[in-house]
Amino acid sequence: MSALSRLPAVHRILDDPALASAIARHGRVATRSAVREALTAARDAVAAGAAAPDASAIVAEAAARLARAAAPAYAGVINATGVLIHTNLGRAPRLQPPVSPYLTLEMDLESGTRGERLAPVVARLIRAFGSEAATVVTNNAAALVLLLAAHAAGREVIVSRGELVEIGGSFRLPEIMAAAGARLVEVGCTNRTREGDYEAAITDDTAAILVVHRSNFHRAGFVETPPLEALVALGRRRGVPVWVDQGSGCHLDLAAYGLQREATVHDLLAAGAEAVLFSGDKLLGGPQAGIVVGTASAIAPLRRHPLRRALRPDKTSLVALAATLDALVAGHPEELPLYRLLGTPDGELRRRARRIAAAVRRAGGEAQAVPSRAVLGGGTTPGQTLASWAIALPDAVGRAERLRQGAPPVVARVEDDRLLVDLRAVFPDQDRDLTRALLATLTKT
Ligand SMILES: *Cc1c(COP(=O)(O)O)cnc(C)c1O
Repeated sequence: MSALSRLPAVHRILDDPALASAIARHGRVATRSAVREALTAARDAVAAGAAAPDASAIVAEAAARLARAAAPAYAGVINATGVLIHTNLGRAPRLQPPVSPYLTLEMDLESGTRGERLAPVVARLIRAFGSEAATVVTNNAAALVLLLAAHAAGREVIVSRGELVEIGGSFRLPEIMAAAGARLVEVGCTNRTREGDYEAAITDDTAAILVVHRSNFHRAGFVETPPLEALVALGRRRGVPVWVDQGSGCHLDLAAYGLQREATVHDLLAAGAEAVLFSGDKLLGGPQAGIVVGTASAIAPLRRHPLRRALRPDKTSLVALAATLDALVAGHPEELPLYRLLGTPDGELRRRARRIAAAVRRAGGEAQAVPSRAVLGGGTTPGQTLASWAIALPDAVGRAERLRQGAPPVVARVEDDRLLVDLRAVFPDQDRDLTRALLATLTKT
């Protein structure tokens, strides 16, 4: 008890001149919380039998806690995982167009009157995808909720059992449908759904047929799905629109990057989909956003729905999305960071990997340039890999941890007891920092 009573009071520590600079920097409120935490830790230590720390030890502990809490909230990292669209690292690498402190978000400069905040992005979407209409909300999940709420509240939406997916751990199609007030009508089986299954499920209450991209898994073997054209023809006969939750935003021929070609947003519209939905931060290579392109009759009710106001994207996303679409419309995807990474020739990755590995060896470390396989990730192109090069190092687990805690942090991957520092998602101007971070793991601490 006497040891505990010897611990100083919070206000005594706060008045200690040694904390004055911490208070100036972090504020009195944060400093007081840190002192309280330090005192609680000291009390626990004393209760466990340790000697009571003096005031200067508690001051030091509080200052250390403040310094840790002042680390950047969202630290920039070097992505050496070989996963280009890495959900935990922010999906597609960010394009950074300048955003003015004030901007013409909702003002038409010519007339000086109020403008439509989404109009510039909508015009670019229509140009990029050739659709009749378009709109944009915060993300693809929100786009689906809005589409369902506007057209299918209290009505039925038909989905194949082979497409009832969960994406990213929190997007579960049946739950999204329920949240939007639509009734899910499941048809077919996990591996096979035929056109006749859809046809048999159509009633007077059917609002739409929804086709969902499987995104993060692929099927093989005895499988069957009707072509979109057949579903569109069926829908037209019965007066039911077909919507496609395409997800990835694939907008160009991926064969150009050594991947399998898959249906693009444009292909799906050409096949007659009334609405195609996708994310802004997957294969589009832009910011987080949920995009809907399609017919005027599919999109107009979305624009009028009260939920749209709750789902509107923020101005920095709109600026980045407009810049992303400008690059795509101009036919210059390589201006987007994602496509710069995707388009880097293997030979260049090999040369960089060799140079970095040689620098590590010169410093006495063990390192080797090795061929590697990277992936697009983010629930796109499941099962497919891309050629890449990596630097392989021993002591994988300990080294991975030290790299993660470095400045800047490097996130690499552990494979067969080796640490693989994959260069596919590393920008060339990060090579120096990356090399320095690898060298730092050679010295024992
Ligand atoms: C990624 C994905 C989603 C979720 O998109 P968010 O932008 O994360 O909301 C929904 N559907 C499909 C098919 C997807 O691939």
